[in-house]
Amino acid sequence: MILWQDFRKNAIIKKLFKEEVVKLLASKMLLSTLKEAPNEAKIASHILLLRAGMIKNEVAGVYNYLPLGLKTLTKIEQIIKKHMDKSGSLEIVCSAIQPKEYWEESGRWNKYGPELIRFSDRHEREFCLGPTHEEVFTTLAKDLIKSSKSLPVILYQIQTKYRDEVRPRFGLMRAREFIMKDAYSFDKDEEGLNNSYELMRKTYEDIFDELGLRYEIVLADTGAIGGNGSHQFMALSEIGESEIAYCECGYAADTEKATSKVITKEVSTNLPNYSEVDTPNVKTILDLANYLNVKEEEVLKAVAYKDLLNNKLAVVFVRGDKEVNPIKVINKLNTTEANLVMASYEDILNMGSVDGFIGPIGLKNCEVLVDEEVTYMPSIVTGANLKDKHLKNVLYGRDFKGIVDDYRLVKAGDLCPVCGKPLQFERGIEVGQIFKLGDKYSKPMKAYYVDEDNKNVPYVMGCYGIGVTRTLQAIVEQYHDDYGIKWPVKVAPYHVVILPVNDKDLEQVNLANKLYEECKALNMEVILDDRSQKLGFKLKDWELIGIPFIVICGKKALDGVVELKRRYKDDNKEEVEAKNLVSLLEDEINAELRS
Ligand code: ATP
Ligand code: MG
Repeated sequence: MILWQDFRKNAIIKKLFKEEVVKLLASKMLLSTLKEAPNEAKIASHILLLRAGMIKNEVAGVYNYLPLGLKTLTKIEQIIKKHMDKSGSLEIVCSAIQPKEYWEESGRWNKYGPELIRFSDRHEREFCLGPTHEEVFTTLAKDLIKSSKSLPVILYQIQTKYRDEVRPRFGLMRAREFIMKDAYSFDKDEEGLNNSYELMRKTYEDIFDELGLRYEIVLADTGAIGGNGSHQFMALSEIGESEIAYCECGYAADTEKATSKVITKEVSTNLPNYSEVDTPNVKTILDLANYLNVKEEEVLKAVAYKDLLNNKLAVVFVRGDKEVNPIKVINKLNTTEANLVMASYEDILNMGSVDGFIGPIGLKNCEVLVDEEVTYMPSIVTGANLKDKHLKNVLYGRDFKGIVDDYRLVKAGDLCPVCGKPLQFERGIEVGQIFKLGDKYSKPMKAYYVDEDNKNVPYVMGCYGIGVTRTLQAIVEQYHDDYGIKWPVKVAPYHVVILPVNDKDLEQVNLANKLYEECKALNMEVILDDRSQKLGFKLKDWELIGIPFIVICGKKALDGVVELKRRYKDDNKEEVEAKNLVSLLEDEINAELRS
């Protein structure tokens, strides 16, 4: 039997939850939190974004942004826009569809590997889905910039990019469709470019500072984009795919780019002539070093490549204790990552050698690239280009020559190229990269301005990218605990959630409603949890989603007291008088937003 009193109470509660259609009720938000993460997710940030129901996977490397995810994404975009606008850059939006002709003009249609998603329309005209927009912006600049008086110009957009990554993984970190903020600067000369570059570097610092990321700015390789100077912004994280070499003196570089100090010591020319030694069944550098009782650093390591773009073979020699850095080889050979493959057995035979026994003496039909450290090796053991045979007492200069440069990967124990102290290492997530392009695109694409002497001069360009969706996930990687995400207030999908412990208790519901309305009246981003679930269940959801302020209206509602949990901080629960709550929230939120 329902008592009349209960009936009346229930009716009031129903009305309270329903009374205003604009109320943001948890029951109507399509919350889709998961207890367990889908198998595909391996790292905390990916697991948590899926479990919190912020994103949803469609196919490998392709994600949909659900209501909560989109809220945060939009906030990150707004912060980026604010700082880009402050720098005087102009926002535009370009299509993802780009005609092949643009890419032929820049010379990248053939160079860009299978990452480029190409397609043709019904008239067999070819296009690609933009992985980046240098070609489009350079073409736009040709049409839009009518006079050199409008220079310098920085154009930017926040837009979706497509890259058919070999291994899409880690969710938004390495996706096949992702959102990038890309910007392109157009200047009259190098000096102008340097100013634009510095302006963007500073702007990026402001953006990543405001987003609350811990990051490092490092020297970077220019990769497929090209040009002659670049820095990356690395969010520090153990799961980062990039490795940073750094030194207390301030030197910091992506290991793709990093170099180390070469210990230059006089090499004696009195070394006896080289001689052949039998080395049956040795497979590795370590085997060989042990067999001949020498150190690994006295042995020469050979790595044979085929460059498909320029159709040539190359062997790179580094000290036996070091590895080849393929990025440096790609740059030297002026080829691309997709076009540099390991040489086959046959290729090696064509070089006059045998796989496993490659040495620099007598090699033919190939480029010989020699790491600079090799020129200081006092006595070298190297392959004899014959099966089961090596040579010892070999010397660079006396016995062989090659194209000497830095081809090695830095490693622990190497010394800083600037100050000579030991390099240190750390992992990072590349959230942004800036490049000095010079006239790499403007020259071939004929994007010119007319100078005082009436001459056509190519724009001196820079380009600047931020992985917006990668940044979103990098924030989660840096801001989470075992229970979920701990969004910094600036990018949290909502600021406050108010939950009555018992949704059948009139006092609790009444108070929760009252607080909700007061927050709303102050334009706070607040959710009212009207769900008929146990407190533990509801709390777990909000901890997982990471709402910064969780307000619990429990038994003490009767005495006008609620509990406040600051998820973004220490997570402790604090009792607060309900009458003080809203102004306290307002002050704290504003302080965070202003910081
Ligand atoms: P990576 O070395 O990680 O492949 P990249 O150097 O090729 O990246 P850029 O061309 O510099 O990338 O693109 C600008 C920014 O876009 C990067 O700094 C990164 O934050 C982001 N980004 C690049 N590729 C992806 C991807 N597959 N998924 C998500 N974000 C990406
Ligand atoms: Mg990059």
